[in-house]
Amino acid sequence: MAHQPMLKFVKVERAMPEKRDANVRNADFNEIYAEYAGAMAKEQSSRCSQCGVPYCQSHCPLHNNIPDWLRLTAEGRLQEAYDLSQATNTFPEICGRICPQDRLCEGNCVIEQSGHGTVTIGSVEKYITDTAWEQGWVQPIKPHAERKESVGIIGAGPGGLAAADVLRRQGVQVTVYDRYDRSGGLMTYGIPGFKLEKDVVMRRNQQLEDGGVTFKLNCAVGEDISFADIRDAHDAVVIATGVYKTRDLAGPGSGADGIERAIDYLTASNRKSFGDAVPEFDSGALDAKGKRVVVIGGGDTAMDCVRTAIRQGATSVKCLYRRDRANMPGSQREVQNAEEEGVVFEWLTAPKGFTGTPVSGVIVERMRLGLPDATGRQSPEVIDGSEYVESADLVIKALGFEPEDLPTLWDQPDLAVTRWGTIKAEFTSGATAMPGVYAVGDIVRGASLVVWAIRDGRDCAAAVLEQLNGVAAVAAE
Ligand code: FAD
Ligand code: SF4
Ligand code: SF4
Repeated sequence: MAHQPMLKFVKVERAMPEKRDANVRNADFNEIYAEYAGAMAKEQSSRCSQCGVPYCQSHCPLHNNIPDWLRLTAEGRLQEAYDLSQATNTFPEICGRICPQDRLCEGNCVIEQSGHGTVTIGSVEKYITDTAWEQGWVQPIKPHAERKESVGIIGAGPGGLAAADVLRRQGVQVTVYDRYDRSGGLMTYGIPGFKLEKDVVMRRNQQLEDGGVTFKLNCAVGEDISFADIRDAHDAVVIATGVYKTRDLAGPGSGADGIERAIDYLTASNRKSFGDAVPEFDSGALDAKGKRVVVIGGGDTAMDCVRTAIRQGATSVKCLYRRDRANMPGSQREVQNAEEEGVVFEWLTAPKGFTGTPVSGVIVERMRLGLPDATGRQSPEVIDGSEYVESADLVIKALGFEPEDLPTLWDQPDLAVTRWGTIKAEFTSGATAMPGVYAVGDIVRGASLVVWAIRDGRDCAAAVLEQLNGVAAVAAE
């Protein structure tokens, strides 16, 4: 009988790559997990039971062929594993690092449900593609033939870049416009280096540029160039601008100096990691060093802020969230990482107002979870008389993001939006009500995930190609 490399989940225990000690990692912005050694990746992949109906795959937004690339890794056939993995995912090594696997692929792995600990799918995916980069298997795009049609993509985040990649592979002329000076969107300026080191994103940007994608950076659509001009210049346009309007806090004192937006705080920190001059950081306004920091919110952005503040040398870091640990939107894995690094969570608390100018404290009310609301989620209620003041020199608002008003900013009243301000687009194609205009990622879904933006970008590119092919066929008749 042939040697069976798989189904080892009973004999081989689940093991993540080594995590750096909290006392070491909390002083730098490098990723906290090491890479698997080759033998370990093989062994961990061999735990997969090769399900006939792989729930891991159906719960991956990209429907990655997980069991097959795990088997190839277990067999030491890494280049084939890479070919298979990159066939469905534009940035496998990025998803391997930052997908909330506990809610997606790994959370649905059957061996986890049988009590043996999930296959470490994300870490293996990262290992396969990091190895591919090391070995030189990741190459710039070389289309078989050039096409004359061009597509303009507004926004160089994962949604826009995934669409750019698929279109360019088919020889389409692609121009990506972005108001930032570097591509990558929130992968570059939102997500901190300890989750996703910046050279991992920059080498992807370079790969796309080397493959013939044109980038027009420092170019804000609606200011430096009009949407109408972009539409005139291209056969199709993809809007992938993400969501950047910060949900605000009300209450007395909420306008005081020292109360900052999470996106400004994280962008400044990421820019410092690039070695950029960042006056708002150098002035101390966006630097947590030596400060008592309070972060308000319970999502992944809040987790990134608290962990950034620890690394900047804050004297204390507290996170206020109005529900409890079990009901927070952020990943449990990130809460655990934050606690290990010294963050204190004040569950069931909400800010009522602020003291001092600049800010010196947050007036906090304690909450309890009441009856479930229409969505079935228990609503937080204030506990009367529970008010206290939490001292703070820097308060960071991390309450989520909303879309900017694109129809007004771009003078495009025909660009239909939902009642939440996100762009109305067809479910799979991303087609909007405007002919030849598509939309993908957070600007359609609201704040979501990198992997969903990639999925949208890839699906939309397929629809754009169909449009271009249709027009080309009519022209040839
Ligand atoms: P974005 O990544 O936001 O990119 C949009 C791009 O459009 C930006 O580069 C912007 O500069 C550009 N743009 C906007 N307006 C204009 C304009 N008018 N003209 C020109 N350019 C414009 N997801 C995960 O999966 N895992 C995580 O761990 C994770 N952590 C996160 C942490 C933080 C702090 C934040 C804020 C988000 C996190 N997310 C995470 C969510 C994830 O980053 C987003 O869902 C994803 O980046 C959305 O991709 P996108 O392409 O739609 O938009
Ligand atoms: Fe899991 Fe994300 Fe990779 Fe899909 S893309 S297999 S959800 S880590
Ligand atoms: Fe393997 Fe788990 Fe996926 Fe089954 S669900 S194929 S065991 S990774």
